[in-house]
Amino acid sequence: MAPKFELSGTDLLHADDPFHGSEVAPSISVTTTFRQPEIPEFDIQKIATNPELQRDTKSHVYSRITQGTSTRVEQVLSKILGGYAITYGSGLAAAYASLVHLKPKRIAITGGYHGAHHVIETYRKNCDVQVVGLDDDFAGVDIAWVETPLNPTGEARNLQYYADKIHTAGGVLVVDSTFAPPPLQNPFKWGADVVLHSATKYFGGHSDLLGGVLVVKTPEEWGKLWMDRIALGSVLGSLEAFLLLRSLRTLHLRVASQSATATALANWLNDIAKTPRGQSYDGVAGGILTKVWHSSLQGRDASGWSPEQQMEGGHSPTFAILAAHEEVAAVLPFALKYFIPATSLGGVESLIEQRSRSSPGDDPRVLRISVGVEELTDMKADFRQAFKAATAKAKL
Ligand SMILES: *Cc1c(COP(=O)(O)O)cnc(C)c1O
Repeated sequence: MAPKFELSGTDLLHADDPFHGSEVAPSISVTTTFRQPEIPEFDIQKIATNPELQRDTKSHVYSRITQGTSTRVEQVLSKILGGYAITYGSGLAAAYASLVHLKPKRIAITGGYHGAHHVIETYRKNCDVQVVGLDDDFAGVDIAWVETPLNPTGEARNLQYYADKIHTAGGVLVVDSTFAPPPLQNPFKWGADVVLHSATKYFGGHSDLLGGVLVVKTPEEWGKLWMDRIALGSVLGSLEAFLLLRSLRTLHLRVASQSATATALANWLNDIAKTPRGQSYDGVAGGILTKVWHSSLQGRDASGWSPEQQMEGGHSPTFAILAAHEEVAAVLPFALKYFIPATSLGGVESLIEQRSRSSPGDDPRVLRISVGVEELTDMKADFRQAFKAATAKAKL
């Protein structure tokens, strides 16, 4: 067995050590411009092939180009993601930047986060791009866009399968790994060429910043993305960079806890879903849920592949449940007291959302659950009382 994808707390705390002075907590820096040295030292071409040169504070000129805190964030992200990381103002800004960089003529994508489809639609306004499905023939496909685990269900897709398929066709594999930050899975190990994360979710982890990340395998590709970002202006804000750096210090603690709790909660809810009407399970009357989706419940596919092979560090802290009745799905988020009815995911506070509110066209019985860092026993007790209240309120 290959070693697991480790997430080192030491790296999270110290990967940016060479990039700062004597301060312990990073300083908040909001300057957009920097005092120029008498003899010019900034060389954009040199930095574009060697991001390490940003370590010299004299390399900062203007914050759309580089800035101290986001440079440090990129250093930490590069270390933990196993490539060259570049940050953006949001996950979708990162997605758009990947298209500008890869210049696809044909993209394969199926399902997943609706925003990724919107980005492709927006990009298509300016150039002729065909969109096919991931199960279609990949002839002429330049990008296979694979999200795993999937929004909103938390189910996994076999990356190696899509990597082999797209590489045979001569294209690249872009993996949206937002639902499985390190240490849950390492997409590069399974053939990814570009990895995308919405930093708004687990990296930020406190529902207080918007950010995005692309990770590539060479400094040359990083340099091209960086030059494009200077032109697009889609940088991570300076204050957001500070918040993100602060949050990354505890990523390993948060994600390990959230993943373990979510896996236990999804399995408990699955036992409830298996309980027929008229019977009860652990204090919950059966017949309230029809299905629970999560990679921990997925099992092996027809080829024998199972999500555990890929998700070596654990399952996603986000998953979905299918209520037996639309009325229950509508009221349950408001009957829970610890799960906040809200969109988004990845924060320390648990959230629940009737998915059709944010993703029109989705089944109105589907609820997405983002598990935070509260205690499992309290979450279960909360669901017990909320299932009762929601059943009464929905007049079932
Ligand atoms: C939220 C999300 C995005 C978009 O990220 P933003 O930071 O909101 O732009 C992309 N992919 C997935 C899977 C997401 O959940």
